[in-house]
Amino acid sequence: MAASEEQDSQVEAPQPAVEEETKTFKDLGVTDVLCEACDQLGWTKPTKIQIEAIPLALQGRDIIGLAETGSGKTGAFALPILNALLETPQRLFALVLTPTRELAFQISEQFEALGSSIGVQSATPGRLIDHLENTKGFNLRALKYLVMDEADRILNMDFETEVDKILKVIPRDRKTFLFSATMTKKVQKLQRAALKNPVKCAVSSKYQTVEKLQQYYLFIPSKFKDTYLVYILNELAGNSFMIFCSTCNNTQRTALLLRNLGFTAIPLHGQMSQSKRLGSLNKFKAKARSILLATDVASRGLDIPHVDVVVNFDIPTHSKDYIHRVGRTARAGRSGKAITFVTQYDVELFQRIEHLIGKKLPVFPTQDDEVMMLTERVTEAQRFARMELREHGEKKKRPRGNAGDDDDTEGALGVRNKVAGGKMKKRKGR
Ligand code: AMP
Repeated sequence: MAASEEQDSQVEAPQPAVEEETKTFKDLGVTDVLCEACDQLGWTKPTKIQIEAIPLALQGRDIIGLAETGSGKTGAFALPILNALLETPQRLFALVLTPTRELAFQISEQFEALGSSIGVQSATPGRLIDHLENTKGFNLRALKYLVMDEADRILNMDFETEVDKILKVIPRDRKTFLFSATMTKKVQKLQRAALKNPVKCAVSSKYQTVEKLQQYYLFIPSKFKDTYLVYILNELAGNSFMIFCSTCNNTQRTALLLRNLGFTAIPLHGQMSQSKRLGSLNKFKAKARSILLATDVASRGLDIPHVDVVVNFDIPTHSKDYIHRVGRTARAGRSGKAITFVTQYDVELFQRIEHLIGKKLPVFPTQDDEVMMLTERVTEAQRFARMELREHGEKKKRPRGNAGDDDDTEGALGVRNKVAGGKMKKRKGR
């Protein structure tokens, strides 16, 4: 357990007295029917954050959980809530706030999986304030639990006003759980507003990245980013990739570029409709696509278990986002790689990341002459991608006759393999 520098007002949870390995969900105080549900999900023993948070939550304490993504934090708050719901069943028992709909959907799936045998229902209604203001008969006056997942993000994304509005209409006499992998000073402000004598549960030191994660950087001129990306995808072929871009437009463009070169790439960003975003995510989860290109909408919380390699194609501007992005790989004891592209414009941001994680990263080895052999085909694919992006933009402006491409999850990505006609191979000795 590590003390956070930014929080000193909370009591820290005591170290568990019994060896962690020997603990079961039943030992933590979880009721039998929920222990069975855990068993059915293959959760044979509780994770560290669950061991720390569940007993305290069951005692009725407010909790600040500081845990890495993939640590089992959803279970850490869902189990105590379901446990309490079984004791006093009622409608609108708990409210979970998340920064993105995908995350809300994923959490709701875990609630339903854990609560299936007791008939729990969950919903992900989108913007809660709209419902509070416009849906007749909808109120949260009987609410017993409030959870904020990725709490720092909720505030960083300027949800502060909305959160204040919600806090005003829910009972003061409730339990509050606040979970995040990273905490900011803004969260500290919120703690004072919303939590009562909270206890802090932290299972890893601040901003630590997991041991099985191999992290590299690549210092390259900005104009060769696409070519180096293609080189890496070829070099590490057979793996699943998440590639992070800084804007929706660049995510879409890079997805088009890669598809034109024969890669099975799919985008996920905030300008896609909700159903398309979920569609992309599900195709990637089902391994029907091996490359997911995403903005930071996907850097947090989403449970995508099989990512082997994270590529920071555009360096994150907030260094904490680095931790969240690379947290998509090397999960649950598996190993993984993260490669960060650093151009002439990104040196300072990269130094900040190294400072945050407290280590100097090695260079990812490349054969520059082999990379340069790819330039011609990449340039051609870039040209096609630009055309397709333009066509898609114009199509969107026109009134829609029939649903056409817009109903396709992959949106503008209708044209494939124009350049390579299949998976792209390095051609040597041309
Ligand atoms: P989370 O950190 O909540 O996103 O959880 C990450 C993944 O861990 C999810 O796929 C959960 O189903 C899984 N998980 C949560 N708790 C346990 C547990 N005790 N044992 C095994 N897997 C778990």
